[in-house]
Formats: sequence, structure tokens, C-alpha cells
Amino acid sequence: MRRIDALRVLAGQTADLPVVVTCAASSRELAAVADRPNHLYLLDSMGLAGSVATGIALGLADTGVPKVIAVEGDGSLLMNPNVLPTGGFLRPEKLVMVLLDNAVYGATANLPTYAEDIDLGLLAEASGWAVHRAAEPEELVAALALSLEIPGPSLVHVHIEAGNATDVPKLLEDPVVIGRRFRDWLGARIATAVEVLA
Ligand SMILES: [Mg+2]
Repeated sequence: MRRIDALRVLAGQTADLPVVVTCAASSRELAAVADRPNHLYLLDSMGLAGSVATGIALGLADTGVPKVIAVEGDGSLLMNPNVLPTGGFLRPEKLVMVLLDNAVYGATANLPTYAEDIDLGLLAEASGWAVHRAAEPEELVAALALSLEIPGPSLVHVHIEAGNATDVPKLLEDPVVIGRRFRDWLGARIATAVEVLA
């Protein structure tokens, strides 16, 4: 499964959920699949998708918004692996991380990452996360659906092929605009959830 195939599955199951996406090809390819205001693209902020999503998950605890999704790459997660024990310690029930693991840095000529030898899913399990694994689109559909049902933190460890989708344009939007668009969407989403609960 290619990264963009995994992102197509993800976009199909997260249209009304906040999605925080790591930088470079992951953001670019998700925007090419579906550019929606519920996507927070962390341009140039490598390693922070899990941390930002952890904060959002804690902030959403008393709202009707059921989950927040962090989309990480293996290189990005290895830049800030502390997010795993932090999640295991704080136990944000609404946190789901989708790890797109190809064991290489996609932005730098596919240089290998430590994920070549280190199983990041096991690292998450050791930190107290529920972990589901997927390598094919139909497995990802099931793993993601399950992770959206159970209390977090949960990790969907997705094994993808190395390489980036071709003919995907660079994502050059101003991060301030992306952040404002996401914040406005999330505020409206919380308000809608409150109305449903009422
Ligand atoms: Mg990678």
C-alpha cells in the first residue's frame, strides 16, 4: 500500500473529525486526496503531530467530538518518541495516532530510519497504547474503525511502501491561514456536538 492509498482510506473515515498531519509528503498527499478545514497540516513542524493531537484530545474531553487523529510518519515519530509515554501516562481517551511507517525518510531520498530495526508499534504497546496493525487498505479500514470505537490512546501502525506519490503539488498555503481555518472548523464542530447532546 502506498502512502496516498492509506490517506484515501483515512480521509474516507475522518470527514467530521479533527486530523493533525505531519509535514512534507504526508500533508501534501492528504491535501491532494481531500483538502478540508478539519485537516491541520503541520508544515515544517516535524515530530509534533502527536503532541498537538494530544493537547486537542485532552481539550475535547468534555465535548461531543469523539476523537482526534494524528497522522505521523516513522521519521517524524522518531524525532519526538516521547509522545508515546506521554500518551500512556496521560491516557487521552480521544487520541488516535495513525503511523504511516515506510522505515525511510521520504523527504530525503529515502534514507533509512531506525524503524528499519525498531518496531514502533511495540514501543507504543510498551507505553500503554492499544495497537492495531495494517498493511492493506481493507486492513486499515478495519483497524481505523476499531480505533475510533475504543478508548484511546490507540495507534494504527500502517506499513506502507517507500516512495512518494508523483504529480502532487507542493502545499504552499500560509500556516497561519491553515491554523485559522482549522480552529474555526473545530469551534463549529464542538458547537454542533453540543447541540446534538442537548
Ligand atoms: Mg517514513
